[in-house]
Amino acid sequence: MQNYVDKTAPYTALVIIGGGPAGMAAAVAAYDDGVRDMVILERDLNAGGILRQCIHNGFGLHRFGEELTGPEYADRYHKMVVERGIAVKTGATVLDVTPSEEEGIAAYVTAISEAEGMFTLRAGAVVLAMGCRERSKGALNIAGTRPAGIYSAGTAQRFVNMEGYMPGRKVVILGSGDIGLIMARRMTLEGAEVKAVCELMPYSGGLARNITQCLDDFGIPLMLSHTVTQIHGKERLTGVTVSKVDEKRRPIPGSEIYFECDTLLLSVGLIPENELTRGANIGMDGITGGATVDQYRQTSLKGVFACGNVLHVHDLVDYVSEEAALAGTSAAAHLRGELTEGRTITLKTDGKVRYTVPQTVTITENTADVTVYFRPSDIYRDVTVTVREVRTDGAADGNIISKKKRIKVAPGEMETITIKAADLTAATADTLLVSIEESAKKGGNA
Ligand SMILES: Cc1cc2nc3c(=O)[nH]c(=O)nc-3n(C[C@H](O)[C@H](O)[C@H](O)COP(=O)(O)OP(=O)(O)OC[C@H]3O[C@@H](n4cnc5c(N)ncnc54)[C@H](O)[C@@H]3O)c2cc1C
Repeated sequence: MQNYVDKTAPYTALVIIGGGPAGMAAAVAAYDDGVRDMVILERDLNAGGILRQCIHNGFGLHRFGEELTGPEYADRYHKMVVERGIAVKTGATVLDVTPSEEEGIAAYVTAISEAEGMFTLRAGAVVLAMGCRERSKGALNIAGTRPAGIYSAGTAQRFVNMEGYMPGRKVVILGSGDIGLIMARRMTLEGAEVKAVCELMPYSGGLARNITQCLDDFGIPLMLSHTVTQIHGKERLTGVTVSKVDEKRRPIPGSEIYFECDTLLLSVGLIPENELTRGANIGMDGITGGATVDQYRQTSLKGVFACGNVLHVHDLVDYVSEEAALAGTSAAAHLRGELTEGRTITLKTDGKVRYTVPQTVTITENTADVTVYFRPSDIYRDVTVTVREVRTDGAADGNIISKKKRIKVAPGEMETITIKAADLTAATADTLLVSIEESAKKGGNA
């Protein structure tokens, strides 16, 4: 993809890429903070993002104090966008983001739509809110044939909830992330027999509440430390072989179980959609698959912000909206010239903390308290989460500047720890270590 630099292109103060919950929440927050000249570019024919196909409830408990369905949640934000008269161009796919050297221009954003053809905007600020897509079976390399009947869980969700098709009747689900759990219940409610949800890891990647409400309540077995090792069938899937795996996730010979089924749903992870981000040479985090950002959700490209699932995969859309609102107000502050440069502190993790967002903190005279989001890499019980200064010689035994106790942390549930502004500004180290200290041995999934 070539990079587009068009110094004659029209100026737009804020260009938001993606009209899902993140893009809409960023737009509303930026508007409420004074930005009027903005546009949301959305490649789909409607705003709302992936929530349009998530017709189950459970959305909005944190944000609105109500239990909404995905479309209802998206509609709340869509109404806020419409009430404010924020421009939304649908059917407009962004093809390229090129950094700008022009004063006051963060990037050139080039998009294509049926209505306008190809067009470029000179953006004062950009919010990246492109969401994520599902990991495909190709990435898994399961042995066997390639029959019909194998879908990603999200594709099946779209078929059932939006297009009125039933992908199959006898179902095995591989992967116990939230979409897999939700689809186990959905397929059961639509009359299918869900034989098992198999999970490679010794714990589920989904929320505890979804294991109870989507599997336990319907008597669907969750087979931890199991994976699909063989696909059977020629034209159409006829069955799968499932094997137990050892601690190194290798199938254990002799543990095979055959399930007769016509459908295999894959829920094996989400990949943030960062082709545009990489194309703009923005610094990336190899673990999250998203950009590296500071506490304002500003990327390594000044004036370009990222939020929502394109930054890191969130458990709940409520947290997506919260983060997007922060990116929106940060973009507004950038446009007013208020996001000044400062000292950068890098956040590092021990092996037990898989990643943090933000990855850096910018220290200026305006620095406020910073909430750090993180995911543990395993289940740990009775832990203390600490943030401590790393000395210049690399020794991580400096001052503890924040700590909190947790009875249990798990990879499926995002955690937070807040660092007080005073402690950040007083910190002399340029690296902080976020770690999990165990006082008891880790346990199972219960
Ligand atoms: C299949 C699936 C099911 C899910 N189910 C649930 C669930 O049940 N509960 C839950 O809390 N979360 C669920 N999620 C997570 C869900 O994605 C988030 O909760 C939330 O929708 C993330 O909001 P977002 O705006 O970051 O991303 P999205 O909702 O994915 O929105 C991103 C938007 O950006 C647009 N876009 C992408 N690239 C471009 C481009 N180049 N140009 C223009 N527009 C672009 C997309 O069309 C999309 O509308 C699911 C995710 C997937 C993939």
